[in-house]
Amino acid sequence: MADTAAQHEQGFDVVVLGAGSGGYACALRAAQLGLTVALVEKGKLGGTCLHVGCIPTKALLHAAEVADAARESARFGVQATLEGIDMTGVNSYKDGVVERLFKGLTGLVKGRGITVVEGNGRLVAPRTVEVGGTSYVGKHVVLATGSYSKTLPSLSVDGEKVLTSEQALRLDRVPASVIVLGGGVIGCEFASVWRSFGAEVTIVEALPRLLPGEDEQSSKALERAFRKRGIKALTGTPFKGVDVTETGVRVTVESGDAFEAELLLVAVGRGPVTEGLGYDEQGIALDRGFVLTDDRCRTNVEGVYAVGDIVPGLQLAHRGFQQGIFVAEDIAGLSPTPFEDSGIPRVTYSDPEVASVGITEAQARDRFGDAVEAVTYDLGGNGKSQILRTAGFAKVVRQKDGPVVGVHLVGARVGELIGEAQLIVNWEAFPEDVASLVHAHPTQDEAIGEAHLALAGKPLHAHS
Ligand SMILES: Cc1cc2nc3c(=O)[nH]c(=O)nc-3n(C[C@H](O)[C@H](O)[C@H](O)COP(=O)(O)OP(=O)(O)OC[C@H]3O[C@@H](n4cnc5c(N)ncnc54)[C@H](O)[C@@H]3O)c2cc1C
Repeated sequence: MADTAAQHEQGFDVVVLGAGSGGYACALRAAQLGLTVALVEKGKLGGTCLHVGCIPTKALLHAAEVADAARESARFGVQATLEGIDMTGVNSYKDGVVERLFKGLTGLVKGRGITVVEGNGRLVAPRTVEVGGTSYVGKHVVLATGSYSKTLPSLSVDGEKVLTSEQALRLDRVPASVIVLGGGVIGCEFASVWRSFGAEVTIVEALPRLLPGEDEQSSKALERAFRKRGIKALTGTPFKGVDVTETGVRVTVESGDAFEAELLLVAVGRGPVTEGLGYDEQGIALDRGFVLTDDRCRTNVEGVYAVGDIVPGLQLAHRGFQQGIFVAEDIAGLSPTPFEDSGIPRVTYSDPEVASVGITEAQARDRFGDAVEAVTYDLGGNGKSQILRTAGFAKVVRQKDGPVVGVHLVGARVGELIGEAQLIVNWEAFPEDVASLVHAHPTQDEAIGEAHLALAGKPLHAHS
């Protein structure tokens, strides 16, 4: 590190702006490769995922699973009663998980010799980030400023009755009723938590189905399961407006119908945090606020990269990790191979879970016409799923006489199966390759094995 201009300018191999999943992964890998790194963060190391995203929501979902297990214990012959949800206790469990991981990450970043710069950074020259009067000059700069909860023009978030996901995570009570605006991943996960905690839940979604990016069969299965759980999913229902009332909110939809609840969660997507940070002024190409890159995460400005949620595509923490690592290796001259978004696994951790990797059956038919085969193996035939009393399926899509191009899973805990599925899709395995591998019994993994056996023409536990 070279200090110049009386501490007002410091030079590094890499300056990373934003220490969320994308930014800190880049910093860690770059430091591992022997590069000097400055990591600029105005909030906390770990960003959205660790503090207000993946980790706290999954802790809530686990507490929700425990509540369901207690409520439904009689189905397993166990006598227990659910006395109630103590949100102080739930929040302290959730915050404890976040705090432990935050400490671990802070230690990791320190241990790698990364210079953490606390404060609001701004790109003041193509290779310079300024924080509080000091310029951090990088041979390379990585933009990783993440995303924020979007809202709609006709909707004002007050943090009391109309909430973003960040605010919902801080709620100190279980609402009696909630309307969730948006049936994407975040909306479905919160709907699932609140229902398990005992709230009346209605999802309002303009598109024709929940999780519209998933295979249609997965959306249908989730909607069915939600209906059985008493979650109302109003799909194909565009939102019109909301009035805050004395007792809560009154949401009106385009058809004129109105729905009342104690709270409204706004989960209509996440926008890029790029405004006012100097990107525009430095000539970085943007599209509706998102930073445009090539498949090597390079922006149009020499030496400036972008990773994570600010880059158009899947807004997932592990995509950010992958891009961050990729950029560090690219800078270090290791020539990593670009990765396609469709090979990135996706999981919605609701009950039931929905997981997928690769392309949907509809996308496969668009791409290959009739040369597509799909098999859906019902979890009804899977021993472990019956033990768990969960319903769902493992669906595998292959190119005819070719590799598996998509795996789609629905059911409790199926998110844990996506590891095998992503190897199959990304290694372009043929069903015949997978069919010859052994899956432990009884596991839900066997459902993936059975689907491949069926596609390879030798179904085992399947009725013809
Ligand atoms: C409720 C919720 C649940 C989610 N669940 C999952 C999940 O289960 N799995 C999953 O894969 N993804 C999940 N995500 C998405 C995941 O959190 C994001 O994809 C991921 O955090 C993106 O990483 P990032 O590095 O691009 O940005 P972020 O994590 O948003 O980090 C950006 C960082 O940049 C900092 N920053 C911004 N501007 C400046 C500035 N000017 N100066 C200094 N610092 C700045 C911010 O403070 C922040 O720390 C969830 C998101 C939400 C909201």
